[in-house]
Amino acid sequence: MSTKPDIARNLQKVLNDLPASVKLVAVSKFHPLEMLREVYDAGQRVFGENHVQELQQKVGQMPKDVEWHLIGHLQTNKVKYIVPYISMIESVDSLKLLQEINKQAAKNDRVVRVLLELHIAEEETKYGLTFDACRELLASGEWRELKNVKICGLMMMASFVDDEQQIRSEMLSAADFFDEVKAQYFADDDAFCERSWGMSHDYPIAVECRSTMVRVGTTIFGERVY
Ligand SMILES: *Cc1c(COP(=O)(O)O)cnc(C)c1O
Repeated sequence: MSTKPDIARNLQKVLNDLPASVKLVAVSKFHPLEMLREVYDAGQRVFGENHVQELQQKVGQMPKDVEWHLIGHLQTNKVKYIVPYISMIESVDSLKLLQEINKQAAKNDRVVRVLLELHIAEEETKYGLTFDACRELLASGEWRELKNVKICGLMMMASFVDDEQQIRSEMLSAADFFDEVKAQYFADDDAFCERSWGMSHDYPIAVECRSTMVRVGTTIFGERVY
């Protein structure tokens, strides 16, 4: 017998753990609409999805006041599908992607908020900017010409390990890096304020490491069925 997770209670538990200054993104990837609706009915409005196709399917089926965040890797040829409605793209890791988002956002006459994704974890992944690559992107200054994207901060995933010290040290290095680029490029820009780190297994640590936005899936919805 499978036990149905008490989604509303799980959501409340996570919210109780978060200071008022930390925003919750409910990561609903691979979960069915009825579960999203339950979370919506419990008051949650910000949802995160990883895949464009799944996101597209869900957007039309959910109320219009949901704020959708794309948190997974985005290919440039898919940007046009999500730009009309996306609230934030958290996974920007190249100038090319930034330029494409800008182009599509201009066509839609809107400004799309984005985060730059850092690659810090020890795991091998193709995605995310190293600190140096991120410095280079910002130093080029080309992003300043992109009037239809707004860089609002940084996103990262810590290594998926049990070692709390390692998680903490990765998150703190991201927080220090945030301060560096804030001072150098965004000192007068209040919109550059988001530090998106913390998932189900490490969001309490993230809160201690100056996260402003946690992305939590499993703790709310239960295990994903792939
Ligand atoms: C899936 C995912 C999450 C949420 O993971 P959980 O462990 O289920 O909380 C957060 N961030 C990103 C980028 C993800 O892909």
